[in-house]
Amino acid sequence: MTLNIRPRPGIMDIALYVGGAAPGAGQANTIKLSSNENPFGPSDRAKEAFGRSVHTLHRYPSTDHAALRAAIAETHGLDGARVICGVGSDEIIHFLCQAYAGPGDEVLFTEHGFLMYRISAMAAGATPVEVAERERTTDVAALLAACTERTKLVFIANPNNPTGTMISAAEVAQLADGLPPQAILVLDGAYAEYIEGYDGGLALIEGRENVVMTRTFSKIYGLGGLRIGWGYGPAAIVDVLNRIRGPFNLSSTQLDAAEAAVRDQDYVARCRSDNARMRHWLAEALAELGVPSDTSLANFVLARFADAAEAEACDLFLRDQGLIVRRVAGYKLPHCLRITVGDESACRRVAHAVAQFKGRR
Ligand code: PMP
Repeated sequence: MTLNIRPRPGIMDIALYVGGAAPGAGQANTIKLSSNENPFGPSDRAKEAFGRSVHTLHRYPSTDHAALRAAIAETHGLDGARVICGVGSDEIIHFLCQAYAGPGDEVLFTEHGFLMYRISAMAAGATPVEVAERERTTDVAALLAACTERTKLVFIANPNNPTGTMISAAEVAQLADGLPPQAILVLDGAYAEYIEGYDGGLALIEGRENVVMTRTFSKIYGLGGLRIGWGYGPAAIVDVLNRIRGPFNLSSTQLDAAEAAVRDQDYVARCRSDNARMRHWLAEALAELGVPSDTSLANFVLARFADAAEAEACDLFLRDQGLIVRRVAGYKLPHCLRITVGDESACRRVAHAVAQFKGRR
């Protein structure tokens, strides 16, 4: 018998995700600034909880994540019954596409939007639809104009990765309220905690039945390696997502560490102010060297070079100096480098290296 094993149509059209661990990132004197990680790592309380969890590894973890959902709900003033936790916010994005989009359906996202929106849409068999931005910023009018009767999901990250730009709550509300009746707006708040006093737009969800938010422990909480994220939305949608969620999607270690992390908001506040200070410093230093960036509200700066050749040359130069940043050609920004805001010494090293690069040319 000749085997005839094939994936569903469209699966092989998905481009493999390239990113995450960078070559050379573990070497001495090398600083990885390519994945928007928190340079200070997680809080001590999260690390202690992680260590303690070793004593319960023989037990299956909670299936309903009640303790973590309660901690998230208390911290953000939410209804814990409407919180759902997943393996990174990636998994929540995946659940949404699996549950709401299939062949013939359209999933919208912005031109320079996070790559997982496309991957998850295609994995569900749906059609990904990329919508142009205005000045590297989400364009609500363009998104509304692109909606059809087949649009099931509209993803926007606010602030956006890799641009760092953000639209106002009023614009997000306008988008939510202008969508066709079968469409859900997914508000990706992966970087929300970096903005002082901002709830990520959680208030927009109350009173609306078509908005879901995703959040992550990978950024300000410094737990990218733990792989944990959460979502919040209307009860009916969260119920749907829970039906396709594996009962043990999160380990007890993930749950315990994330719960301790969310209960340590003093740590979050310290990381937020350190990031704001160094982001401002780095953006100014680069601008003085002739490398401008849009005002970023997240933990990275999208540095714009004269053209793709200069960005590539600078990337290689930085790499030689042990500084690993992200080329964002995949996001159609080949003249840009996305540089994660590191600690003070990392930012100084970047500015120094870019100065040397500019002087060299
Ligand atoms: N959304 C955005 C906008 C992101 O930048 C990222 C991570 N790069 C994620 C979601 C996914 O984060 P995680 O799966 O680690 O929670």
